[in-house]
Amino acid sequence: HDLDAPFATQCRDPRLEAVSPRENAALVMLARNSERDEARETMRNVEAQFNQWFNYPVVFLNDEPWDEDFVRELEETVSGDAIFEVIPSADWTYPAWVDQERARQSMAQQDRARVWNGGKESYHHMCRFYSGAFYKHPVLAPFKWYWRIEPGVRFTCALTYDPFAAMARNNKVYGYTIALWEEPNTCPSLFREVDNFRAAHDIPKTPSWNAMLDTPAPWYLQLYPVRLLLGLLSAAHTSWAGDRWNLCHYWSNFEIASLDFFRSDSYQALFDHLDRSGGFYHERWGDAPVHSLAVHLLLKPHELHHFSDIGYHHEPFFQCPGNAPGDAQLPGNEALAAAAVGSAGWSPETDGAIGCRCQCLDRRKRNN
Ligand code: GDP
Ligand code: MN
Repeated sequence: HDLDAPFATQCRDPRLEAVSPRENAALVMLARNSERDEARETMRNVEAQFNQWFNYPVVFLNDEPWDEDFVRELEETVSGDAIFEVIPSADWTYPAWVDQERARQSMAQQDRARVWNGGKESYHHMCRFYSGAFYKHPVLAPFKWYWRIEPGVRFTCALTYDPFAAMARNNKVYGYTIALWEEPNTCPSLFREVDNFRAAHDIPKTPSWNAMLDTPAPWYLQLYPVRLLLGLLSAAHTSWAGDRWNLCHYWSNFEIASLDFFRSDSYQALFDHLDRSGGFYHERWGDAPVHSLAVHLLLKPHELHHFSDIGYHHEPFFQCPGNAPGDAQLPGNEALAAAAVGSAGWSPETDGAIGCRCQCLDRRKRNN
């Protein structure tokens, strides 16, 4: 999908774009009280690059009651309505059928095996929440679209059109910026469970599904004794018989997508199937691979959209649109390797200048 054309090119006048029909949409940020500064900086950035013109509401979700300071500071920062909600405790915990003692042992084992965030109970709850619950929160009931944002992320270009309206107009369902390979040790049995669900529901292997598949294992690895041995030696990320997942997934810390897709019976049935297996705790399934496998299973390729025009940074990766080829030479951008413009990749920077400026923003600055 990296060849998707942007919905709009060059700078629109965002003040005119914002008056055309609007969507029922909200920005959604899950955060902890301790992330107040990062949340505020991110929302300042989102307002500067987009929401100062569009004034969409921002829904802040937390598994704990919000601190007054967080509420006050973010209310001051957001131009649209800022809504602060707590997640129902049933959506931030183990499902009833998971034995919590066994789950804690699994997580300790994941910690020893250095599974990324595998030892952190709250992280498992967070992934389960974003996989199967956020879209059912009553505060999101009025909305059809959401844009997921996290404390600490940066948007490096102005977005001068309404991405929700563009998604709706173009019959899109799920939009992303960055695609990556998942760490196999977080999800040894995820693909097998999704594929079991697919087979049980007679969902055909579409081109979109096949795009998630790796080349088959060579025949000699598929022999039963070899498979048995490999199974004993390692938790292979996919079964050695049958299809294998290529580990490709969209990084879900950025998503602009339809809430109705997640609320659909088929997505909900898939989530329930995965949740039943206990893999959100006995392994450390991320919401990103769950969403990605789901959209490739249940949607058509043209319903996905790669926002190649959105400059985006979440440590340690970024996407840098190529609409400003001269910007590497702009004062203050010396640190930017010319190669970073129009590319995606890994950045060693921990904060501060991201060195990925889009012409759009500079032109607007000149106008104002
Ligand atoms: P990473 O991006 O995978 O490294 O994970 P993050 O630490 O960024 O967490 C993903 C999102 O979930 C962010 O929006 C965090 O603010 C949020 N989050 C993670 N853990 C918790 C938690 O225990 N409580 C709350 N309220 N939010 C959390
Ligand atoms: Mn994050």
